[in-house]
Amino acid sequence: MKSPQLYDNHNRPLNYLRLSVTDRCNLRCFYCMPEEGIRYLPKKELLSFEEIERLVTLLAGMGITKVRLTGGEPFVRTDLMKLIRKISAVPGITCLHLTTNGVLTAPYISDLKALGIASVNLSLDTLNRERFKQITLRDAFDSVMNTLELLIENQIPVKINAVVMDGKNIDDILPLVELTKHRDISVRFIEEMPFNGEGAHYPVLTWTHRKILSYITEAYPTLQKINDPDNSTASNYKVPGYHGDIGIIAAFSRTFCGTCNRIRVTAQGILKTCLYDDGVLNIRDLMRTGCSDDQIEQKLMHAFAHRPKNGFEAEQQRTANTPVHESMSTIGG
Ligand code: SAM
Ligand code: SF4
Repeated sequence: MKSPQLYDNHNRPLNYLRLSVTDRCNLRCFYCMPEEGIRYLPKKELLSFEEIERLVTLLAGMGITKVRLTGGEPFVRTDLMKLIRKISAVPGITCLHLTTNGVLTAPYISDLKALGIASVNLSLDTLNRERFKQITLRDAFDSVMNTLELLIENQIPVKINAVVMDGKNIDDILPLVELTKHRDISVRFIEEMPFNGEGAHYPVLTWTHRKILSYITEAYPTLQKINDPDNSTASNYKVPGYHGDIGIIAAFSRTFCGTCNRIRVTAQGILKTCLYDDGVLNIRDLMRTGCSDDQIEQKLMHAFAHRPKNGFEAEQQRTANTPVHESMSTIGG
């Protein structure tokens, strides 16, 4: 099936859905959740598998071809593989990706491979077991490393997501670059954003994308810029001779909004047309009050036709002028 092309009001094609399947998580990453966790949604408030399947089918008919499942931690949702099977069978969805912390992932890797998963993003902010515990408040480093090695062994394309945190994991930046020496993986360094459930940690972001790049370039003066794939949020580089590559994501500075092809749906079915907005449409309630597919499609089209130009505009338009304070776990990264 050839998908129609969907555009927003700034003539940006939209083809990528990031779908959060749960707000729950088994880690407590410093940059994402407060130590005591967040108030989780009652299960009945989450989209059911049937609702998710209906939504993905609807969006695929409108032009979405790529889906990423995220969370919270996707593998905390019961029967996740059942959902993955359903979504990968939706006509028009040509690539399915997954973002996971890797703690519970290992037993499912061969099934993911068999289902043709396009890639897995694995969150890993440090290669030091003790520091992993300090950052995530859980002792799960070995499980994550095991998942990493199994993904590579199964030849599933892997991107490591490492959030750069002032005073926490700066000493890990270069070891993470070194991980690309013998492994054909991509390590992406992400600017820390204020989505931690509590509000911004710092008045000013110290480790900007520019600072991360100059820090790495100082250690690797021959670092080469390589091509950025279409709609890439990362600026990509390679150490000559290394198998893998690295990327730097200006998630806080928002330099990539001009080519943004993404929409997000939270675990409770709220549409976000920008990471920095506070939700523009409650799709779950439309479904649960009996709206037809056509009616929902019209509401979606309206939302896509009113997308903010960039993350700064989206932040300004937040209702009640609330600054960003929600946890990334509720949004889905
Ligand atoms: N639990 C899964 C995981 O950690 O990979 C998926 C959900 S997590 C919210 C998705 C991504 O968001 C992770 O790679 C994480 O590093 C990133 N993230 C979470 N909070 C962030 C923040 N405040 N700033 C930048 N990235 C963040
Ligand atoms: Fe959980 Fe992922 Fe947030 Fe860490 S980043 S607390 S693993 S949802």
